[in-house]
Amino acid sequence: MLFKTITKSNFKKFVNNIIKENQTIGPVETDRNAKGEPIYQFEEISNFNEMAIDYTITYSSVKNFFLPFKENLSTFHFKDGTWNQKIEYTIHPRVIIGLRPYDINGLLKLDKVLMKGKFPYPYYVARRKNTFIIGIDNAPPKGCFAQSLGTDVALHGFDIFLTDIGNKYFMEINSSKAFNLLKNIKTNEVTDKDQKKYIEKKKQIESLYKNEVDVTGLPSLMDIEFESDVWKKWGDKCLSCGSCAMVCPTCYCYTVKENIDVSLNLASKERILYSCNLIDFAEVAGGHNFRPSAMSRLKYRYYHQYRGFVESYDEPKCVGCNRCGNACPTNIYPVAVIHDLRMENA
Ligand code: SF4
Ligand code: SF4
Repeated sequence: MLFKTITKSNFKKFVNNIIKENQTIGPVETDRNAKGEPIYQFEEISNFNEMAIDYTITYSSVKNFFLPFKENLSTFHFKDGTWNQKIEYTIHPRVIIGLRPYDINGLLKLDKVLMKGKFPYPYYVARRKNTFIIGIDNAPPKGCFAQSLGTDVALHGFDIFLTDIGNKYFMEINSSKAFNLLKNIKTNEVTDKDQKKYIEKKKQIESLYKNEVDVTGLPSLMDIEFESDVWKKWGDKCLSCGSCAMVCPTCYCYTVKENIDVSLNLASKERILYSCNLIDFAEVAGGHNFRPSAMSRLKYRYYHQYRGFVESYDEPKCVGCNRCGNACPTNIYPVAVIHDLRMENA
């Protein structure tokens, strides 16, 4: 890792140069909510000024640029008495700017399953390898409990990471690609004063985390509380809309849909992001549903986040962004559910 500083005006030039050559995505204010607060989303940009670089949190996570809601896996043509399969996808190099540490950590968790697991998902791998990531630190958004999960700091998983230290950024350079790109723009060596400001800024961000959840021994607690009334309490509120999983940076469950043309000569296979909260998620051929109640589906979503993933990867799947809580129409959010489980056990 290399450390440099870059003035804000030079960073702007750097980004505008990148935009000329690459598809570039950044946080953009797209709307206002009922309270008049801005709603942000990651979107393609054509100029630095379109970005809301000091945004709080995007409504959806950046996941959808790696796992689109819907994508074609293959197409089949029936010709000369046999089926011919065609698989094609084009991935262009691109840059995503402004990821917060918890979103970078979210991508690292997806990597474990979709890139480094037993069965890598080639579409994801291709997108991940062709994406240049520029992270930027900021104060935690309301409801965020990333600090409790250790995802408030990003140690890797990015090409460049910036921390605002006044009129310039302290810059962590983490790839040769980043090093080469930065050769075209003026950067400076880190001074003692910059270092001091950087440490102060990091401490300030750290102190702004107000939301906490105690995850000590959570997998065992969840085993003990498998039949707890807590699941009924929150399950009864759940509308099974699936919004929580759609906005979550680490939910990757999907379904596969097969389409057959009426001519019977053409067919396709589509991969569609799905949510374990949806009513038919665990329905199998013959109509049997292994998770018929909203309570059981909600419970298993939490078990995947805080128990199952820990068993496989020694860490929870959740990064504590609280997007699920923000998107939930009935105000179901992890801090409250986990707090209830702890109370039940106390
Ligand atoms: S479960 Fe909720 S808080 Fe955790 S990563 Fe997903 S959206 Fe964020
Ligand atoms: S967003 Fe809320 S209501 Fe909708 S499925 Fe998730 S927990 Fe249930």
